[in-house]
Amino acid sequence: MAISIHPSVDHGLKQAARDFGGGTLVCKCTSRPVKVSIKSQVAHNHACGCTKCWKPKGALFSVVGVVPRDKVSVVENGDKLKIVDASATIQRHACKECGVHMFGRIENAKHAFYGLDFIHTELSHESGWAPPGFAAFVSSIIESGADPKNMDAVRARLREIGLEPYDCLNPPLMDALATHAAKLSGVLKA
Ligand SMILES: [Zn+2]
Ligand SMILES: [Zn+2]
Repeated sequence: MAISIHPSVDHGLKQAARDFGGGTLVCKCTSRPVKVSIKSQVAHNHACGCTKCWKPKGALFSVVGVVPRDKVSVVENGDKLKIVDASATIQRHACKECGVHMFGRIENAKHAFYGLDFIHTELSHESGWAPPGFAAFVSSIIESGADPKNMDAVRARLREIGLEPYDCLNPPLMDALATHAAKLSGVLKA
């Protein structure tokens, strides 16, 4: 039986469109859906196995990427948004009715990823978004109930799709976090 990673990657990765300028994210509500306009291509898109990112029903992973926060604007029914956990590093703004996370924002200006909002491009009807490039926090799917005995098969399936599995973030992003921390502490000159 084939392992389902996420509906948007189970049948292979879609190509990014050249000069793609973004789209509109729409929540799952049938009436008065929340709409969020994104005026940018997504960066660092990846499959994420953590327990915090929103994933569609039945998916083992979420698919999440970042865009500059000034390219994100709530355009309809923003009154339905609430922050899932205000104490979390990433404040996920979700629809109160359908539960979909519309965007995640970092408010700590000292964080390495400050200025970037986390979004799920599958909520947009436009095609041309950059596909995920790796899988992060793979081991964490066990915390959401995945069988630890299936992890070899999950990692094999991720590699087959072209998503190298990591149990934290990928090396470029881990390096970015460490570089930022080293500059903050003064170990590295800014
Ligand atoms: Zn909704
Ligand atoms: Zn995550």
